[in-house]
Amino acid sequence: MVKKHWKQQTRLVHEGQNRSPHGETAEAMYLTSGYVYDSAEQAEARFREEDDGFIYSRFGNPTVRAFEERMIALEGTQDARATATGMAAVTATMMSQLQTGDHIVAARALFGSCRYVVETLMPKFGVACTLVDGRDIDAWKAAIRPETKVLFLETPSNPLLEIVDMQAVADLAHENGARLVVDNVFATPILQRPTDFGADIVVYSATKHIDGQGRCLGGVILGDQSFIQDELANFLRQTGPSLSPFNAWVMLKALETLALRVDAHCHNAEKLTEFLVNHAQIERVYYPSHASHPQHNLAMKQMSRGGNLIAFDVKGGKANAFKFANALQIALISNNLGDAKTLITHPATTTHFKLDEAAKTELGITGGSMRVSIGLEDGDDLVHDFDQALAQLA
Ligand SMILES: *Cc1c(COP(=O)(O)O)cnc(C)c1O
Repeated sequence: MVKKHWKQQTRLVHEGQNRSPHGETAEAMYLTSGYVYDSAEQAEARFREEDDGFIYSRFGNPTVRAFEERMIALEGTQDARATATGMAAVTATMMSQLQTGDHIVAARALFGSCRYVVETLMPKFGVACTLVDGRDIDAWKAAIRPETKVLFLETPSNPLLEIVDMQAVADLAHENGARLVVDNVFATPILQRPTDFGADIVVYSATKHIDGQGRCLGGVILGDQSFIQDELANFLRQTGPSLSPFNAWVMLKALETLALRVDAHCHNAEKLTEFLVNHAQIERVYYPSHASHPQHNLAMKQMSRGGNLIAFDVKGGKANAFKFANALQIALISNNLGDAKTLITHPATTTHFKLDEAAKTELGITGGSMRVSIGLEDGDDLVHDFDQALAQLA
C-alpha cells in the first residue's frame, strides 16, 4: 500500500501498517507473546526460516515490526530492530559486533550510560576503549589501532551540545576497516540523517523525542542488512532486550506527529535562545543553530535546525543555578529530555555527577551549567517564565 515515492510526512503516517481482517483505521496492537501455526509442517517451516511468519515475541512481533518499518522509512536504512530502551540499543550494538581483542574509539562527551558501556562494561570482556575529544579529528586519527572496529559518537552531545564532524570520522572509520555508530538522540531523525554523512549504524533512545510525551521507554538500531540480519538479529533473539508491543504501539503512533512536534520544539528553542544570549545573568549559551555556537557552520551542515536542547551557564555558579531552577514555574526540574513539557537539569549534580572534577572540566560542565529540553508550551510563556526566574538573581 505504501508508495516509495511518497514524501516523508505521508510515510510517517502510513508506513508499516499491516491491517488485520477487521480493517481497523488505527494500527492494531498485538499484545501476544506467542503465535499458533496452522500445522506442524508450518511450525517446522518457520523455524527453518522458509516461512517468514512470527514465532515468539522475543524474536519479533507485528506491532514492533510496524514501528521498525516506520523508522526505516524515516532513516532510509535497509533494516532496523527495536529494543526495550535506548541503552539496550547501545549495549546490543556493541556486544553483537565486538569480541575480545577489539577496540572502540569514542567521543568523551557522551550520555552517561553510553560512556559506562564503552569505558567500563566492554573492557570487562577484553574490548579496549579510547575516549577522545570528538571535535578533534587528529585525536580520532591518533587513537585508531589495527584492532579498532567501532567508532562511536553523539552529535550534538550531552550536555553542552558539542558537534562532531560525522563525515570526517566516518572516512577515518572506513579507511581503517571500522564502522561508525552514531547516537542521534539529540538531533532526532527529523533534523539530521547520520547515514548521509557516512554513519554505518544509527541508534536512538525512542524514549525521548520519538515518544515525545514522556510515556514509554524504547530504543531502535538502524543499519544495513548485513549488520542487522547477520550480526544483530541473532544477538537480540537470544539475549532478549525486546520492546514490548504496547510501547511499540505508542512509538508507532507518535511517529505520525514527530516532524510537527520537532518543528514546534525548534521554534520555541530558537525563541528562548535569542532571549538567553542577551540576558545579563547568563554567562554563555550553547545552541547549535545560533551564530554564537563555536561550531555553528558544521552544525548547520549536518542539521536542518538546532533542535530542542539548549545549554547555558548562569552567572554565580551552583548557588544561582539552583536558585534559578527553583524559581521556574513552567519548566520542570527533570533529567529526562525530548518531552512535551519543558525540563531543566543541572548536569554537574545529576546526569554527570559521577564524573570527577577533571572530567567535568574537560567537558566544560561548571557549577552554573544548565541543560534545558524545550517543550511544546507557548514560546512566549516560556520566555516569560525564564525571565521572571532570572530576575530573582539580580
Ligand atoms: C536517554 C539517552 C540514551 C539512553 O536511552 P534510554 O531509553 O534512557 O535507555 C542514550 N543516549 C542518549 C543521547 C540519550 O539521551
